[in-house]
Amino acid sequence: MNYLDAISVPGREDRHKTNTAFGGTSGKMKSCLKNGCFGKDGCLNLSSRSFSQTHGCQFNLSLGMLNSIRKAVIIKHGPVGCGISSMGNIGVNKTLKQLRDPLAEGSIWISTNLDEADVIGGGEKKLREAVLFADKEFRPETIIVTNGCVPALIGDDVDNILNDLQEQVAAVIVPIHCEGFKTKVMATAYDAVYHGILKKFVRLPEREEFIVERDLDEMERQYRISRNVNIFNVGSMSRPDELELQRILTGIGLNVRFIPCYAEPDDFQYALETSLNVSICGTHDDYFVEHLKTKYDIPFVIDTIPIGRKNTDRWVLKIAENFGLEKEAQRFIAEENRILEASIDKYRNVFKGKKVFLAGGEVRIIATAEIIQDLGMEVVGFKAHHFDQFIEPIFEALENIDDVVIDVATNQPFEQANLVKRLKPDILITHVGGNNIAAKHGLPIFPLFGPAYNYMGYSGVFEIVRRLARVIRNNQFNKNLAENTELPYKKEWYDKDPFTYIKE
Ligand code: SF4
Repeated sequence: MNYLDAISVPGREDRHKTNTAFGGTSGKMKSCLKNGCFGKDGCLNLSSRSFSQTHGCQFNLSLGMLNSIRKAVIIKHGPVGCGISSMGNIGVNKTLKQLRDPLAEGSIWISTNLDEADVIGGGEKKLREAVLFADKEFRPETIIVTNGCVPALIGDDVDNILNDLQEQVAAVIVPIHCEGFKTKVMATAYDAVYHGILKKFVRLPEREEFIVERDLDEMERQYRISRNVNIFNVGSMSRPDELELQRILTGIGLNVRFIPCYAEPDDFQYALETSLNVSICGTHDDYFVEHLKTKYDIPFVIDTIPIGRKNTDRWVLKIAENFGLEKEAQRFIAEENRILEASIDKYRNVFKGKKVFLAGGEVRIIATAEIIQDLGMEVVGFKAHHFDQFIEPIFEALENIDDVVIDVATNQPFEQANLVKRLKPDILITHVGGNNIAAKHGLPIFPLFGPAYNYMGYSGVFEIVRRLARVIRNNQFNKNLAENTELPYKKEWYDKDPFTYIKE
């Protein structure tokens, strides 16, 4: 794969034939995966909706990653409303940055605030002013310019403007082309951000080699690199998750570095001193690791996500195979499972016989279902943001899943409301951001992700069990909410097939 000569990345609907509209069973989805329906001319790629309530914008997801880069100023080139969602994570973002570097600033961003006059006259002047102001005022190491729909539609020549400005500022300018209208698959944002990182940040570490040559014996350096592993956190991993994965891989003799979120620009060149790139989720990282393989010949692992014990066992073994550390990994896994089993046993009665509906990112929901089955609960339905081939290995950890309903829908809360009424789960596990709507069903809700909580690895399983048990025991808030508020849908909608508006 090599798209680095292109200004912007292709949408996932073109690159992976990703599906964003499907209503059926897991068995049907699995056979679609097997029969290549996601491939070229795949039927699933052509699905759409005749009515869509809401959608996702890759501009906002890109900012979720970019706001976390240290020593950077973000310029949002577009109307002031674009990227306003950043307001939702500024506190968390600053805290997590400071866990890496106590002196780290919070996110600094500037909007070019395009208005009606700029739509006619062009946004070039405002973009130039914003870049020069950011450089003079904040003296950042890097200025990241995100490009929204409006400048793309009016034809601002963003790359040429930025090339010209690069001569006038000290910071490295990084353009990110993440216009919301260009794709229905919000996850294209990961590719757009990695595209900018690959072009501007990733290079061989000349400065570090000089220091290393003076301070360390070359053989020791080479040995260290032979045990180095990069793990990619695009924002869906908390600091406790990072520490748990580090504990696991250190336990079998490896060194771990986390990029890109909460990293600083220099970290990307040092990250080339590694023997393996490890993605926790193909939805996030395939664009980056494939390019690192093509350009720097660094092997990579994309398989399952370390959520749930079977998935974690598999993930650790896949990594260990690359270093001949299978025996060490087996010993480590056996001991971790023994401790985990003893720890969760006392909670099992709380979960017995409960039915669960899961909604969120494809990889995360299917992996979390492994924990649900492990605890003796029944999975009754899924709603995934999108679907593509990266889900295949995750299904392998599940049993008796073929009749379970899957709705593929980026947001579309009306479909979820209909499904929840029909499937009558006892518990909802849904992505943060949609829980305000889901809570009106009055059911216990467990967030699929939380920036401060541990979900991954063996300790992640225990943390999920402990917190889920607490949510089930005390659901009074959501009960009160359901008694005093209503979902906005009419009875006629609940009488209809939830997949009425999906066109295959
Ligand atoms: S869809 Fe376009 S206009 Fe809307 S927030 Fe995203 S980038 Fe801005």
